[in-house]
Amino acid sequence: MSGYNTRTMMNAHNIYIHVPFCLSKCNYCAFFSQACAAPDWETYTRGILAEIDVWSTTLGKISVPTIFFGGGTPSLMPTKYFAQIIERLHEQFDVLPNAEITLESNPGTLDGARLTEFITNGVNRLSIGVQSLNDDELSFMGRRHDVRTALKLLETAQNAGIQVSADFIYGLPGHTSKTVEQLCRDINKLNLTHCSMYELTIEPTTPFGKMNLNMPTNDEMAEMYTTISNTLDLPRYEVSNYAAPGFECTHNQNVWDGDPYIGLGRGAAGRVFMNDTWYEQLGNNEKFEPMSTKSRAVERVITGLRTARGVLLAKDILNVLNKEYINEHPELVITCGDRLVATDRGILVLDDLLVNIIN
Ligand code: SF4
Repeated sequence: MSGYNTRTMMNAHNIYIHVPFCLSKCNYCAFFSQACAAPDWETYTRGILAEIDVWSTTLGKISVPTIFFGGGTPSLMPTKYFAQIIERLHEQFDVLPNAEITLESNPGTLDGARLTEFITNGVNRLSIGVQSLNDDELSFMGRRHDVRTALKLLETAQNAGIQVSADFIYGLPGHTSKTVEQLCRDINKLNLTHCSMYELTIEPTTPFGKMNLNMPTNDEMAEMYTTISNTLDLPRYEVSNYAAPGFECTHNQNVWDGDPYIGLGRGAAGRVFMNDTWYEQLGNNEKFEPMSTKSRAVERVITGLRTARGVLLAKDILNVLNKEYINEHPELVITCGDRLVATDRGILVLDDLLVNIIN
């Protein structure tokens, strides 16, 4: 689904809800989340419900095509609080009957019974942080689970008949394209319809950032990236995301395509569209500022070019593009119908490409 440029969709907003709690912090993690054995779910939920009410007053009964609970570890949430949030969303907004409702989860925090409760309350897509199929790597990354626990959750979710995705991290110290090829062959045996493959990046504020790790070189990382595309059975539809056709994450696809979305909860970013103006927004009422047409168009080029479908060449997008550079570099970027798409080679040098094609 795409098209904030049509009248109906102007009123549609996807919803991202941030759940900023984890049982402990992983060694690579710079996400906004705090290690907390017993989060105050009551207070957290009250805050989210209040935000929903404010947006309902501001935007009216908007339609909601997708809801994404990200984290942190949303699967830690007691289902009674999850149910309250979903119920309020239905009361205040027009949550579409086929809305995609994703829950991010970590192995060890969700068993079959609780998964069933989440599904009863609307979850129809589960994203699982598997991260590795090697127990030593999981422990090195500071993950709390082992491979067996992760595969058990994967199997439970697949048997539950919902859409399932698994996240993996590659590019650890010592990884080569051979390691990554084997990882992809093992992933191919898992019958996944969606997976995310994230390159390990070292953030200075994390434990890994202080460990002086012997990381693979940029060339080695690029080789691993190409190996993934060549080995995984699932086609790539975004820089780090792979899915069987029809199983792409609608929420992320909509956001990357430039559709409006609201962020709820501390640490959640949104892009709200109202009265013909885009607003940069942060959950917990931390920010709500108008954006220029140009800066929003630039964002849409950046996110759109990360996807296989590319960016729609609307008028505001054309205004920020360097057409000369695009015409001179068909090996990096091509026009497909009414969209501009980065080639496989372009994706490998995407940061440089973006610098060159944006005026
Ligand atoms: S579980 Fe996810 S959000 Fe939480 S610390 Fe680990 S990587 Fe970060």
